[in-house]
Amino acid sequence: DTAWLNAFRHPAGAADLVQDIRRRIEHHAPVRIMEICGTHTMAIAKAGLRSLLAPGVELISGPGCPVCVTPAGDMDAALELSGRPGLIVATYGDLLRVPGSVRGDTLLRRRAAGADVRTVYSAADAVDLARANPDREVVFLGVGFETTTPGTAACVLDAAESGLANFSVFCLLKRTEPALRALLSAPDCGVDALLCPGHVAAVTGVDAFAFLPREYGLPAVVSGFEAGDVLYSVWRLVCMVCGGTPALENEYSRLVTAAGNTAARAAAEAVFLPADSLWRGLGEIPASGLALRPEYARFDAAVRYGLSRRRGTEPPGCRCGSVIRGVLPPEQCPLFGKVCRPEDPVGPCMVSSEGACAAAWKYRPAD
Ligand code: SF4
Repeated sequence: DTAWLNAFRHPAGAADLVQDIRRRIEHHAPVRIMEICGTHTMAIAKAGLRSLLAPGVELISGPGCPVCVTPAGDMDAALELSGRPGLIVATYGDLLRVPGSVRGDTLLRRRAAGADVRTVYSAADAVDLARANPDREVVFLGVGFETTTPGTAACVLDAAESGLANFSVFCLLKRTEPALRALLSAPDCGVDALLCPGHVAAVTGVDAFAFLPREYGLPAVVSGFEAGDVLYSVWRLVCMVCGGTPALENEYSRLVTAAGNTAARAAAEAVFLPADSLWRGLGEIPASGLALRPEYARFDAAVRYGLSRRRGTEPPGCRCGSVIRGVLPPEQCPLFGKVCRPEDPVGPCMVSSEGACAAAWKYRPAD
């Protein structure tokens, strides 16, 4: 039964919210709201909210797509792994077409050339693959934020308990808070309010975003993913910006609690430790990634295979770094829609199903 969803697809209610947003910002400088989640990026583009609310409200995409923020050097290492004899690389589908430092060099192309690269829907699928192939080594490319970390941790715990020796993780997991702090401290940031990811908050709890109003004086709303959720959250953010009353609110209360999912966090903390991490567009950020704890080092593919985490080089002309920081709209990249399209992407923001460039291209205005 999906009837309850109708409350979030209510045209008259949406029209009232849009009207009130326009009234509030009539004599106010444009309000710049950043979403930090690729699922929000897609929801905003699909519902046409960006053009509906412009120019008074600017909706800006931030570093919310895990595939997009994975730097070229880490993709180079994943590509190198795929060339090891007898090894199976298990990855989410979005990573298949992300190039490393060399344009066109992707896991998909390596697979076409004979590498054993398998698409999986979860870390648990990769564990199953390892169990089904006891004479092969299976490496799972672990990307994502707080949403995918607990599942990856549970698989490492499972592998440890069952003595699964042919499974390891190339840990590319990221943490939201340190990246947000780095972004907001940048001189070119200029963000007035933040639309916070409901699925991350379901794990971390709402309070994980309390530092935004408390330390940066910025309104923040934890939001769901229906168009009505996002519009309501934007309305609340506009109210707070215009009223000068920054606070943290939870719009996604049907799923998100103050404490979050303590069992999921306990699994993640049992397996991983914060570690410095390199982000595409943001550079190296202290404690913004995760590393396997020493007691689970045998499941760390970087250790097991001696992988080097070099910086790598961005594709020539690609402006993904600026798009990820929210300082350049995708359409203003000189390659957008010309040499960079989803069928032949130059950078990860056009590859990923949650990338800002892919969203802008998929839902672009009709010619
Ligand atoms: Fe990178 Fe393509 Fe986006 Fe330009 S349009 S920033 S090249 S993904």
